[in-house]
Amino acid sequence: MRYALASASGVISAILVVGHVAAQTPAPRVLTQEEMFRRNVGTREEQVTPFTPHRIIGNLHYVGTKSLASFLVTTPQGHVLINTNYEVAVPGLKESVEKLGFAFSDIKIVLGSHAHGDHMEGDALVKQMTGAQVMAMAEDVPALERMRPGGKPHPIDRVLKDGDTVSLGGSTLVARLTPGHTRGCTTWTMTVTDGGRSYQVVIVGSMGSNPGFQFVNNKDNPAIAEEYKRGFEVLRTLKPDVPLASHPAMYGMVDKFARIGSGPNPFIDPAGYRAEMDAVETLFRRVLAEQEQAAAVR
Ligand SMILES: [Zn+2]
Repeated sequence: MRYALASASGVISAILVVGHVAAQTPAPRVLTQEEMFRRNVGTREEQVTPFTPHRIIGNLHYVGTKSLASFLVTTPQGHVLINTNYEVAVPGLKESVEKLGFAFSDIKIVLGSHAHGDHMEGDALVKQMTGAQVMAMAEDVPALERMRPGGKPHPIDRVLKDGDTVSLGGSTLVARLTPGHTRGCTTWTMTVTDGGRSYQVVIVGSMGSNPGFQFVNNKDNPAIAEEYKRGFEVLRTLKPDVPLASHPAMYGMVDKFARIGSGPNPFIDPAGYRAEMDAVETLFRRVLAEQEQAAAVR
């Protein structure tokens, strides 16, 4: 399997994968903000080019691009879509849904990871195309209201709070507020059944410390560092069998996709969840400490 972002993302994924399997291997080097960001968002081409749509486990499917994840929960009463991504990529998203044998017009509910355009800009268009109900975490509503592609207002049919459930056709998703990256950043959890067994799925909203993020003396959100800490606390309480996230690089999708069909379901990876949390939280703590030190010196 080729890594489109050849050097950086390929090497990084390899390091992380080795870190999971061999207990003797030293912990992977902590990425810089820039490296983590590039690993996650990929190139513009990767952001808008569909990745091969595939079933992950049970009734949960991947319909996103090479670097922006979208998930489809299919049920007899219609489907739930998590992340519409960039509006320009919505035609590709529709094709991915159809390639799996599902009708785009059967999408009844649209959810999102967090109020950034790369994950939720397409909400208005998808609602236009499907009539789906768009639901969003209360703390992200102000940012979503500023997201108006082509002047279209952002649709919000139901405002969610931490712990709210979204149910359709026998599947239930739980919205967990994992703030920091945005104020209403949302991690989705659900139980899926596959081969007569139940599995816990966690779709991490994002805890990325993007380049330029200001954790100290942030006038727009003075509580941002505390919110990140709360987000990590919540995520540390979750114990997924199947860790997923808003960017496929956050759960090693390319490598796992290549292993489908050869042995156990590669998306079952509890150790991978902990390793990714460690990497992302270590980076956050380091950047916070650097910014606190710089602020104290001034
Ligand atoms: Zn983001």
